[in-house]
Amino acid sequence: MAHVLVAGAGPVGMVAASCLADAGIRVTILEQSPDLPDDLRASTFHPPTLDMLERFGVVPAMIEQGLVCPQWQVRDRERGAIATFDLGVLKGDTNHPYRLQCEQWRLTRMLRDRLAAVPHVTMQYDARVADVTQDSDGVTVLLENGEAVRGDFLVGADGARSAVRKGIGAQFEGQTIPEVFLTLSTTFAFHDAIGALANIAYISDPVEWFVLLRTASLWRLLLPTDASEPEEVMLSEARIQARMQGVLPTGTPYELRHRTAYRVHERVADRYVVGRVALAGDAAHVNNPLGGMGMNGGLHDAFNLADKLIAVIQGADAALLARYERQRRKVALEVVQQQALRNRQIMNQRDASVREAYFDELRATVDDPARHRAFLLRGSLIQSLRDLENVA
Ligand SMILES: Cc1cc2nc3c(=O)[nH]c(=O)nc-3n(C[C@H](O)[C@H](O)[C@H](O)COP(=O)(O)OP(=O)(O)OC[C@H]3O[C@@H](n4cnc5c(N)ncnc54)[C@H](O)[C@@H]3O)c2cc1C
Repeated sequence: MAHVLVAGAGPVGMVAASCLADAGIRVTILEQSPDLPDDLRASTFHPPTLDMLERFGVVPAMIEQGLVCPQWQVRDRERGAIATFDLGVLKGDTNHPYRLQCEQWRLTRMLRDRLAAVPHVTMQYDARVADVTQDSDGVTVLLENGEAVRGDFLVGADGARSAVRKGIGAQFEGQTIPEVFLTLSTTFAFHDAIGALANIAYISDPVEWFVLLRTASLWRLLLPTDASEPEEVMLSEARIQARMQGVLPTGTPYELRHRTAYRVHERVADRYVVGRVALAGDAAHVNNPLGGMGMNGGLHDAFNLADKLIAVIQGADAALLARYERQRRKVALEVVQQQALRNRQIMNQRDASVREAYFDELRATVDDPARHRAFLLRGSLIQSLRDLENVA
């Protein structure tokens, strides 16, 4: 039986492993942590991603644990709602015409539960990949603990600092965003306090923009932060409370549940596939989180790569893997990076006339049904999946 190694048990690795396992392929998942990570990260699932995840039977549970959000909004910090987009216009394009707010760790746990009963799947924790070598017969992964694991192919889904990417010598080209992203979550009901607030709201402002995202039980607040501010200050209770009172004065302290600060990069690997090794997800590309495209794009990589790996294992020419790179690298460069960049420009635009022009365009888009649908097909990544067929 063919044996595929998957480095990393994040959402991308777990989806790739699930596809391969369902095709009867032996899979070994190598995860550096002692258990599946459950930190606060991506929480937006776009419509086509939910369509793809249907095959695992996990979507009803994700919907039950998450929050279905048909609408999202761009707001001006002073003036309120500028444009409210309605994913309901995509009802003829997807089975899930909404964004689902559901933390990524919920998906990885559901997929683990599903794989637990599959005899040809091995989950290895405390298994940190240190290096990779390959020859004409297979791939050898060297773990930090000295163990060597051998397989026919390797999927590098080991996140932004991917050891697999380094092991195959791929460069990670791009830039680091100057500000740090502070992510907070609170029990405070922003929807009761701010009029006509959608569950997903991007609040533009020339001085301090921010994002409000509602999950089933909490609101998340994403605040760009000066990278020169020491982390102990940035994350201190006093500083966070002061900034949150700046967002919405309540007179009483906010009840906080999580706080994280992280550096954001916009980078794409120069190669996704080298021989028997392929990168997917954050290992291959990272972008700012505005628009929720990083994890979704990564999951689309996982489905695409798994389909091609299965075909190669079943006898197709291994050159098929190069098409995975051509297709998904193009999406990362031309769709995900560009849209994330533009979303950030709308949020932090300082020039008043440029801001107004952006806002006018967004309003005009919502008012025109054909433009509204085309805009949401792009933003939800449906269009990028349709365009893949044209990539040879
Ligand atoms: C702090 C933080 C907050 C974020 N918030 C948002 C957000 O709000 N919205 C958004 O859209 N995106 C967000 N992101 C990005 C989003 O989480 C990623 O796009 C998504 O997790 C990509 O999934 P992945 O499976 O490719 O990588 P990951 O989820 O990073 O999974 C990689 C897995 O590989 C494991 N691993 C790493 N190195 C090794 C190794 N050498 N050997 C073995 N295993 C290894 C890790 O432990 C992890 O389990 C955030 C990222 C971070 C870091």
